[in-house]
Amino acid sequence: MATQGKQKHYSFFRNVEISFDKASRFTKWETGVLEQIKACNSVYRMRFPVKIGEEVEVIEAYRVQHSHHKLPCKGGIRFSEEVNQDEVMALAALMTYKCAIVNVPFGGAKGGIRINPRKYTAYELEKITRRYTAELVKKNFIGPGVDVPAPDYGTGEREMSWILDTYTSLRPGEIDGLGCVTGKPLSQGGVRGRKEATGLGVFYGLREVCNNKQDMKRLKLSPGIEGKKIIVQGMGNVGYHAAKFFHQAGAKVICLIEWDGAIYNPKGLDPDEVLRHRAETGSIKGFPGSRDLKKNTEGLELECDILIPAALENVVHGDNAGRIRARIIGEAANGPLTPEADDILNKKGALVVPDMFLNAGGVTVSYFEWLKNLSHVRYGRLEKRFSENMNHHILGQIEGLTGKKVTSNEREFIEHGADEVDLVYSGLEETMITAVKEIREIWQSNREIHDMRTAAFVNAINKVGESYAQLGIFP
Ligand code: GLU
Repeated sequence: MATQGKQKHYSFFRNVEISFDKASRFTKWETGVLEQIKACNSVYRMRFPVKIGEEVEVIEAYRVQHSHHKLPCKGGIRFSEEVNQDEVMALAALMTYKCAIVNVPFGGAKGGIRINPRKYTAYELEKITRRYTAELVKKNFIGPGVDVPAPDYGTGEREMSWILDTYTSLRPGEIDGLGCVTGKPLSQGGVRGRKEATGLGVFYGLREVCNNKQDMKRLKLSPGIEGKKIIVQGMGNVGYHAAKFFHQAGAKVICLIEWDGAIYNPKGLDPDEVLRHRAETGSIKGFPGSRDLKKNTEGLELECDILIPAALENVVHGDNAGRIRARIIGEAANGPLTPEADDILNKKGALVVPDMFLNAGGVTVSYFEWLKNLSHVRYGRLEKRFSENMNHHILGQIEGLTGKKVTSNEREFIEHGADEVDLVYSGLEETMITAVKEIREIWQSNREIHDMRTAAFVNAINKVGESYAQLGIFP
């Protein structure tokens, strides 16, 4: 979305620093510690040649490790024409805070390649990805104990398997080599549930927020998800899955916004049908039963309960924030609101649920995938059958004692032992709920903290500061 140039001196990294500074005065750390937490530890900027057709193209790429307070570093790799050093630094910083908020023991990192993936063939993208990985290996910027990339905007399972294959062929025999990247396909050491993890985390996070009666009363909304009017901007992996989980839970997805258009239907849209329509026609526009909006950005300003920006940064800024009518803004993307927009929306009394908490589902399940790779065993493999036998036995005893039988549906449900996907989903649900509780505790403990982002930042800064203190760097 071409919104980046709208503000004159736009620096995404500076925006993250502004939010950090706003929160840091509520922490106990001295300036030096705060400066260390804020700074990007290592920035690797590379340029490498790749033969595209008959010509050599010089590719610009980055990997930034924001914090080494815990290792490995962790964060996705983005393929986009907007990629630049400032953006990758900001995204890496957000990863540090994100991991701290959901208690995932990693430092933050991010990578980016400045290309429009739509302009290259799969073969060319493979060459670029493999060369990028080789550059990371050369400088020890990738490895299961060093730095572990993952998908981000413009990348997915396919790119992750190229990275894995390149890494393992350059480092043969490394026993934990599978853990050098996450978001892999299942057949290459991936974990069930990773693909939908960020969208599902957005759903779990917002559901928990909406279950708070006091907050909902203040926002003049009823508690719960059912019947809530939702707008989702971006129908990539995150936006599509978030929309799908809200739709399944009985919310009304009234508007979907893509880079080339937006559709509106007050009765609600089925995200799966919209995706099918896009696959057939090449665009979400013209979806039967819905109205095409004149400008896609118009969709952001429609009346709704929850607005979910799920694409790129800086889509809500000083110029349009005043026109946003949503009561809750759920930041599924990284940095979709500028600090100016954040202030305007907070002053209007809206609830902004911040990115570094709300979109942490992806990295949470990446953590589960990495653990699976290091343990070399699928989740549930050891206990599934044991639990089923035990459940069967207990149910038999209860039926024998009561003289009553449960229905076959209930039997299936009670006896079922946890599969990998059950464990991943419940681990994610628990993580998101615990994170909301921690943030809310901080928020309620200090009347001067006026917004959820500041509370989330305070939580993150405290945790990162604490682990620096434990390392003995700051006695
Ligand atoms: N790119 C995702 C994010 O921004 C996932 C990162 C990961 O799984 O390491 O959180």
